[in-house]
Amino acid sequence: MNLDRTECSECGVEIDTSKDTETSRTLCPACGSEKRTMHCSVSETLIARDGIGVKAKRPNEKRPYIEDRSMPSYSYSREKLVHREMVIDRDNDKYYEKVTDYETGEIIHENQESLSAHQNHGSAKIKKVSK
Ligand SMILES: [Zn+2]
Repeated sequence: MNLDRTECSECGVEIDTSKDTETSRTLCPACGSEKRTMHCSVSETLIARDGIGVKAKRPNEKRPYIEDRSMPSYSYSREKLVHREMVIDRDNDKYYEKVTDYETGEIIHENQESLSAHQNHGSAKIKKVSK
């Protein structure tokens, strides 16, 4: 982190902090205020990693016919957060999943199949049997 410049919080005049001591701050030459605003440049870029989720439902149906989830997810193989995108389209019997590396944009995992095929090897099978 680099300190670019220090200015007075009251009037915005640049303040020379080189004459500061441990016990006293140089007062603003224009208005005499002690308040300061420091401008720093941060070399590290911060990326907001938020998730979004969309569910589309018809009024008389319990289950959403479209589920679209996009969220950060922890990858154990990569030992870091990755971006996970998942779409369930019940109307068109489609299941889509994509896992992307945030830093490089590399697609770690991509999978598209019919929803019925996907559910046949998931926990949905157990549900069907116990019905
Ligand atoms: Zn000032």
